[in-house]
Amino acid sequence: MTLLDHPTPVAAQSMRALTLVADRKIELIDVAAPPPPAAGEVQIAIRAIGLNHIDVWGWRGMAFAKRKLPLIVGAEAAGEIRAVGPGVGDLRVGDRVVPYGGLTCGTCKACREGRDNLCENVGGIMGFHVDGFARDLINMPARLVVPIPAGIGFRDAACAPVAFATVQHMLFDNAKLESGETILVQAGGSGIGTTAIKMAKAIGCTVITTVGDEEKAAKAKALGADHVINYRSERFEGVVRKLTAKKGVDVAFEHVGPDTFNGSLLCLKRGGRLVTCGSTSGQSTTINLFQLYLQQYRIFGSFGASMRNIRESLAKMAAGLTPVIDTEVPLAEFERGLARLEGRQVFGKIIVTF
Ligand SMILES: [Zn+2]
Repeated sequence: MTLLDHPTPVAAQSMRALTLVADRKIELIDVAAPPPPAAGEVQIAIRAIGLNHIDVWGWRGMAFAKRKLPLIVGAEAAGEIRAVGPGVGDLRVGDRVVPYGGLTCGTCKACREGRDNLCENVGGIMGFHVDGFARDLINMPARLVVPIPAGIGFRDAACAPVAFATVQHMLFDNAKLESGETILVQAGGSGIGTTAIKMAKAIGCTVITTVGDEEKAAKAKALGADHVINYRSERFEGVVRKLTAKKGVDVAFEHVGPDTFNGSLLCLKRGGRLVTCGSTSGQSTTINLFQLYLQQYRIFGSFGASMRNIRESLAKMAAGLTPVIDTEVPLAEFERGLARLEGRQVFGKIIVTF
């Protein structure tokens, strides 16, 4: 359709939206652009989307996901403010921002205490339960928007709300990782794995990481990992034991699940902390409860992040801790990006550009 098909002005402009219409079926369609932003809202022109495993889950379909199709995809984004609604004091047209990916209430106890990802009345995760960011324009509550510091491009900023903030929350709010400690980062080639390696090295930790091939091993080394284990050719539990002189690591960073979870626990020193934000290899595992209490392990489930974690992430980027980008794909090739992510071919983040 061209403009010539509309000889009279149309009230609502149309825009592109990447829409999940069925399991494993995403279409780029034209939908009505949003109205001018309401009170307390800003309108954002989306410029880049970061892909995460939650997009793969959403794309494949998931039993526990309560949602209705069609659904606009995209859970992590960066963009530029195009319009500002009444009552928004601190944001201007042209400001570059990242939006928070969950529709929190802003008023419950958790929200008031800055624990946004524990909101008691959350309206859903954008791009998973409710319409997401993979569209030209979106209206968002201004309170869920964080400005991007000068010097950070949209591509890098698009890794802040989910990838960086999730890792920031896992390592520092939950596992309380400290300088000088040793950490095992599982699947160090993933978007969050690469981020965890860089964040842990930045505060002076010793980093042991696992990868699935030699090419990734070299890349993980180049990122600063002190020891890289190819989990296909070596049992990582044994190597970690050797590397730590049988003591074990202080922190294990998990997101692989059943394939590695028990091994990660075995790698911990007594009183060690395991933090997990995902389970890509399945949903269930069994654990040895004697080992759990006798070794005094602490296990943290971690999902998402707070608004503060996003600001901390952007501050780290501004200070030079930039994300590792695997590939950039245009909007129309979103599914190619998802397939690449699903196939674990990545080293770093996949970014979708507009
Ligand atoms: Zn809330």
